[in-house]
Amino acid sequence: MKAAIFHGPGDIRIEEVPDPRIQDPTDAIVRITHTAVCGSDLWFYRGQQEYQEGWRTGHEPMGIVEEVGEDVRRIKPGDLVLAPFAFSDGTCEFCRKGLQTSCTHGGFWAMEMDGAQGEAVRAPYADATLVPVPDRAAGDERLIEALFPLTDVMGTGHHAAASAGVKPGSTCVVVGDGAVGLCAVLAARRLGAERIIAVGHHEDRLDKAKGFGATDLVTSRGEEAVQEIVEMTKGGANHVLECVGAKSSMDLAISVARPGGAVGYVGVPHGPAEEGLDIMRLFFNNLTLRGGPAPVRAYMEELMEDVLTGKLDPSPVFDMTVDLDGVPGGYAAMDNRTALKVLVKV
Ligand SMILES: [Zn+2]
Repeated sequence: MKAAIFHGPGDIRIEEVPDPRIQDPTDAIVRITHTAVCGSDLWFYRGQQEYQEGWRTGHEPMGIVEEVGEDVRRIKPGDLVLAPFAFSDGTCEFCRKGLQTSCTHGGFWAMEMDGAQGEAVRAPYADATLVPVPDRAAGDERLIEALFPLTDVMGTGHHAAASAGVKPGSTCVVVGDGAVGLCAVLAARRLGAERIIAVGHHEDRLDKAKGFGATDLVTSRGEEAVQEIVEMTKGGANHVLECVGAKSSMDLAISVARPGGAVGYVGVPHGPAEEGLDIMRLFFNNLTLRGGPAPVRAYMEELMEDVLTGKLDPSPVFDMTVDLDGVPGGYAAMDNRTALKVLVKV
């Protein structure tokens, strides 16, 4: 079969790899129908994250179950399934409390595991990891493309909103206009936020934010953006959703949080890891900082229901579609920002 392989920064190639096979009785083999290129893939693509030559890529799998191991009960061959970006056993302490990204037996796709940017994957703990799409969505490509972002970006946006404690009637600020930031706007609206201030630097992306429910757009940067938002909110917002992970975006998020408020952060920290956080500001304003890698699996059924009933549609985050051979071009397009998020129809 064919799969995307990392050969070095800027160098992703589609190559022949061995077909996956059942290794453990809890495995399933999934033939990929849809996957994507993620903003977080750009870290290794740009050489900013350690990644070995020969590793597979892609962590957003959707496809049709081809074969299951002998201990798999819930998932059947022929099922159309979604998988979160992390696989998990569904039984450990952390899975039971809805924190599947900390599963004691779990892990992440790609690297030494099978990557979703390929024709098939071996899915560990299939009964816990995979979520079947109900039959009523079968054959409805528009609906399937609206469900697919639940593998990562939509669940991550929801985690930002949930971590920031967004409630009906609340005012919130979403920092970042990438796919996760846009999904965070959708998530905040879904949770009933009344005012959603979207902060970003790309007009076309902010237009999408507006379509998703943002009520106010802020394009200025740094101190200017802080002043603007503090003024608009008469002292800051109770709920701030940080969806970038850079030092500047985290500083902005903390600076526009209202005393007693919360910052939900889901952008993988890059800048703040080295340069630190304004702990004094967090302390003196009694701010809550909550977040991390989204346990997308925990949110999948709930979000799926809203997609199936037409209440939620994150599919406009995709602005480019490629086939598997187009994956290297998809990375290049996201790297040079001509694409926001690339859907891959394998
Ligand atoms: Zn677990």
